[in-house]
Amino acid sequence: MQAGPCLCHFSGSALAPSAAWSPADLSGGGSSPASGGPVDRALLEDLAAASRILAYQGVVDAFGHVSMRHPNAPNRFFMSRGLAPALVGADDIQEFDLNCVTCDGDTRPSFLERFIHGEIYRARSDVMSVVHSHSPSVIPFGLVETPMRAMFHNAAFLAAGVPVFDIGEKFGATDMLVGNREKGEALVKELADKPVVLMRAHGSVAVGPDLQSAVFRAVYTEVNARIQHQASAYGGPIAALSAEEGGLADVINMKAGQRAWDLWLKTVGR
Ligand SMILES: [Zn+2]
Repeated sequence: MQAGPCLCHFSGSALAPSAAWSPADLSGGGSSPASGGPVDRALLEDLAAASRILAYQGVVDAFGHVSMRHPNAPNRFFMSRGLAPALVGADDIQEFDLNCVTCDGDTRPSFLERFIHGEIYRARSDVMSVVHSHSPSVIPFGLVETPMRAMFHNAAFLAAGVPVFDIGEKFGATDMLVGNREKGEALVKELADKPVVLMRAHGSVAVGPDLQSAVFRAVYTEVNARIQHQASAYGGPIAALSAEEGGLADVINMKAGQRAWDLWLKTVGR
């Protein structure tokens, strides 16, 4: 899959891709994968804080998760063990290969839907962080034919289009969960090069070129959904952002977005 242009990037991120990767780098590990190597504990603390931020912002509740790719090993990623997001600390972070097997013999229970993350990292070399949530205002847009559109400048990334993944199209009646690689691959196919994909009768996924931008997109996807519900209530056409306006506004957002991360980090503590 061809990765799309990077429309969203917080400057100065420690998680930006540092080198070009070949497809072989993204092929995944074996049955007993080794760690991709040690990382600065501050990165794991940021990932744990991101989990708590998403809970504080109402994007996740007892369920949902955020991950980040290993900054030095593109076929590894980090995510919390199976735990309510508000309770996550740095010591709860696990490392996985792209087959979603824990590294270094970590036997703590993991999230069932970790395959969302593994398959996105395998397919999208531009993605360094993934958020999966069931945020309530977003879910209706996965149920109806009305597409989600960018209602305001902070959600400019949505102007590129918001696809919907219907797990039933390929797999028939299921438990709705993306619990294996095959379902993860199908989700990624629908996501394509977009920053957000909705999941019918389930939730959504937001991706970004760093942890901060993935969190920003998850938060503002939920806010945008609320605004679209309100705008729809007035009836008539909605003057949403055009794709061109979205591209222009997103450049500004990514310069200013660090302010949101700083505020949210202060709110939940590191
Ligand atoms: Zn889910």
